[in-house]
Amino acid sequence: MEMIKDIYFKTIENSELTIFFSVAEAQETNKEKKEVKEPNKLYVRGNNVIEYVIPNNFKEDTDIIRKVGGHIIDYLLNIYVKRVNIDVSNFDSQMIINLIEGMMISSYQFNIKSKAVEPRLEIGLVNANKSLEKEYEELKTLFYYVNMTRDLVNGPANIVTIDEFVERIKKEAKNHEHITLKVFNSDDLEKLGMNQILAVGKGSVNKPKLLIMTYNPSQKNKESQNNEYDLALVGKGVIFDSGGLSIKPAKSMETMKEDMAGAATVMAITLATSKLRLNKKVIALAPLVENMPSGSATKPGDVIKSYSGKTVEVLNTDAEGRLILGDTIAYAYKNYKFKKLIDFATLTGACIIALGPFAAAILGNDETLIKDLIESGEKTGERLWQLPTWNDYSELIKSKIADIKNIGIDGLGAGTIVGAVFIKEFVENKNWAHVDFASTAFHEQKIKYYHPGATGFGVRLVIDYVKNKLN
Ligand SMILES: [Zn+2]
Repeated sequence: MEMIKDIYFKTIENSELTIFFSVAEAQETNKEKKEVKEPNKLYVRGNNVIEYVIPNNFKEDTDIIRKVGGHIIDYLLNIYVKRVNIDVSNFDSQMIINLIEGMMISSYQFNIKSKAVEPRLEIGLVNANKSLEKEYEELKTLFYYVNMTRDLVNGPANIVTIDEFVERIKKEAKNHEHITLKVFNSDDLEKLGMNQILAVGKGSVNKPKLLIMTYNPSQKNKESQNNEYDLALVGKGVIFDSGGLSIKPAKSMETMKEDMAGAATVMAITLATSKLRLNKKVIALAPLVENMPSGSATKPGDVIKSYSGKTVEVLNTDAEGRLILGDTIAYAYKNYKFKKLIDFATLTGACIIALGPFAAAILGNDETLIKDLIESGEKTGERLWQLPTWNDYSELIKSKIADIKNIGIDGLGAGTIVGAVFIKEFVENKNWAHVDFASTAFHEQKIKYYHPGATGFGVRLVIDYVKNKLN
């Protein structure tokens, strides 16, 4: 739920408050001028006017203005005003867009309380360039998908079950042009031999499914006779991750409804490309499973024959994301043609240890794709940091009895890279990037302009990439 009712590119009447900006002056200290970097100075200037002092390093980091936007929304919701004018005279177009982004991200709320909340903020941007109105309309469309992702990820695993996830995506797909949706159930997966997906889902009463969505704009059909997609997306959809028989400690399980963020993200991106009428062919694949311990669950030490034919020794049933991604990616390469493939997965706790909550890890074998995505991440504030996938690391997943095993070697670390080189075993071309966003898909605390919960990380990032870099 977005708490902003609307944003207008004019002064609104009967506003309860006006905010204007000034830039912090560097503070004199004994030795030197010190930079002011904290974007949280609000001064009441009387007559319902507030001066917001932005830090003077805002030009170095576009994310600062998003933080200002987030901070303003928190303030406004806290003091319970409804109609506000914000004077953006000093802002250039990019700053205004970043301010709106920060406000929109921050004003999202998720709850299942019996008393519903309604959007209530109306914001007038005073002295804003009117031509930005069109960009704002597009942002609103985009944020529908960012928030669709957040709703799916925030949804508890007893509500957003495998079937419910499929139903919600089906319903959305109906309202979009040039979208097709295929759903494989567990019988289909069995016939296809997607045994890694089946192995992960074996312990749950909720059977695995595989969702395949395509977006094929009609113009493209006429132009290109071949069936090549411009972009393939694969997203990890573990509806709930208990760890399976390698069960997680209770505390680590509390947020494991978020383990399907990859699936939600790739479905939302594909629907967004349709609604934004982007002229690129996109295919998204999302395996959906529930990882549970039971008498029928996969056991540590089991060996699975994967869809690709490679045999996989499952030594830890909590390293399940890579298994379902392995089969799905192998299926994508075998059955479709595409220029680039990006997978999104909340894959490893090691990613959080390496990067904290401010960046996701990117790995892969396509340096152009990786570089382009890092650039889009810098632009959108959804930052990526590259880790290597040198062959040395593949040594760590050699199994004594099968082709590969699903974990590395105790004490040698590199958990995020081990996850990636496992997936690499199923990648067939040099056109792949893997985003491990266990660090950024969901926050338990408030981080930057994100309130606790799902962030929608990846949607704005990939849409920027598709619009500006993918060709
Ligand atoms: Zn797991």
